[in-house]
Amino acid sequence: MEFEREILETDILIVGAGPAGLAAAYKIAKLVESQSLEIPEILLIDKGSYTGAHSLSGAVMDPKGIAELIPNFKEVGAPLEAQVSVDSMYFLSEKSSTKFPFMPPSLNNHGNYIISLNKFTGWLAEQVEALDIDIYAGLAGYDLLVDDGKVTGVQTVDMGLDKEGNQRSNFEPGSIIQAKVTILCEGVHGSLTRHAFEKIPELVKNSISQAYLTGVKEVWEVPEGRIKQGEVIHTIGFPQPSNEYGGGWIYGMADNKVSVGYAVGLNSPNPMNDPHNKFQQYKTHPVVKKILEGGSMLHYGAKTIPDNGYYSMPKLYHNGLLLCGDSAGFLNPSKLKGIHLAIKSGIMAAETVIEAMTADDYSVKTLSNYKTKFDNSWAKPELYKSRNFHAGFKGGLFPGMFHAGMQLITGGGGLFDKKASKPDNEYMLTKKEYKQKFGVEPSKVSLKFDNEYLFDKLTDVYKSGTMHEEEQPSHLQISDFDICNTKCKEEYGNPCQHFCPAHVYEMVEEGDSTKLQLTPSNCVHCKTCDIVDPYQVIRWVTPQGGEGPNYTDC
Ligand code: SF4
Repeated sequence: MEFEREILETDILIVGAGPAGLAAAYKIAKLVESQSLEIPEILLIDKGSYTGAHSLSGAVMDPKGIAELIPNFKEVGAPLEAQVSVDSMYFLSEKSSTKFPFMPPSLNNHGNYIISLNKFTGWLAEQVEALDIDIYAGLAGYDLLVDDGKVTGVQTVDMGLDKEGNQRSNFEPGSIIQAKVTILCEGVHGSLTRHAFEKIPELVKNSISQAYLTGVKEVWEVPEGRIKQGEVIHTIGFPQPSNEYGGGWIYGMADNKVSVGYAVGLNSPNPMNDPHNKFQQYKTHPVVKKILEGGSMLHYGAKTIPDNGYYSMPKLYHNGLLLCGDSAGFLNPSKLKGIHLAIKSGIMAAETVIEAMTADDYSVKTLSNYKTKFDNSWAKPELYKSRNFHAGFKGGLFPGMFHAGMQLITGGGGLFDKKASKPDNEYMLTKKEYKQKFGVEPSKVSLKFDNEYLFDKLTDVYKSGTMHEEEQPSHLQISDFDICNTKCKEEYGNPCQHFCPAHVYEMVEEGDSTKLQLTPSNCVHCKTCDIVDPYQVIRWVTPQGGEGPNYTDC
């Protein structure tokens, strides 16, 4: 059936109501007020069902960003679980642990706060709404509109299609939102950001491939006295093998709640790399078990983390476009922290947009001021100093620790600079290559999930509050199922069954063979599959707005 899309016009379109997008909106409103400017139209959209529904992090927050945006953030009720009071770092082997005699400077959390990013985002949204900016949660961007070398806005998702893409009786076509400037703050590996990189290749032509981790976490309520409120424990080692990147965390939140998680590098050679399984295995270690055992698991979540830092950041602007937060790689890999940088990027984007409004010019001529602001800000030296951190671990944990030490002495340069990298999926070996290289078949540890202490993926997904309407086109688009059911099965053993932390991909028996079956409704929007699928036949596109995880306390 023919239809016309509604066209909405706005001055400023912000996509994503996470720390970066909310900071941008807040700062724009404040600058308009302080400079008595004409109030612009701002449209702030988010694909989650409420603001914060898709916000997930460890999280220990460096307050530098929020203190710059809202200096009295504590007085106006920012939800802080605790100020960090105790900091420790352990190296774990399978059964034992060795406490570091000192904290690596980058992991010293003195003055930082443990937060639930999901709660913090909800609070920041309230501060934005108090400035008369409406946030349209449940409105998801589907396509980035680029016309004649200029980003002109976004098309939102069609609602009410059946699985085959036919219009149902409740069909509502997505709207075209036309904006003078679009600020993409979608978080890690955003689908519109990906469109931007594909449609405007110059944005990434000088960037090294991003390197990702998948972080998997649970929030537990534990018996009194297991961990101090404000205590931060970081670990390296078990269960990651020493040739692979990753580590774990345990944070003492308020009310005897604990954030526990494990982040796994996606540049693994093992086609059975399974971040969820590794996280569950992590929980079997005595250091973790003595804190969690006897408690109850409340919430689950998983997301990817853009971890290569400075050299993987894209060009930050184009005609009609600014990129902020995780979408633009604003994350410090040596601290594994990005919330403060996301907020700072939002502040700088807001200042740039105000300059563009004043000059009535949204071309690169004015929007390039964003890069100048970045270069002159505290964010640039922080990111530049950790520019080689992740790359230093390419040779494994122990060489990586040596490189990190050398980078500390040399101000970030270390023994090499700007090491070339390839996309994470290209590090995965076929089963045959793995056997040739390591002398054993690829494998993962077989765990017994009792769903009381160790949880299987489906039980964990339930605890993420994830909801998708079944009757809609799959938002996981497979360009060639034949590859999945033949070549990939034979060569890699269908790694999607392992790397997805939400049991979306499953090989099911059909006759005397097996074929790939998808359950997109389980998807927690982590983007792992889009990143690490070895044949790059999986594409994550936005499902209907208001769907996906519904994180609380995460
Ligand atoms: Fe993550 Fe992809 Fe699984 Fe969704 S389907 S949870 S994006 S790996």
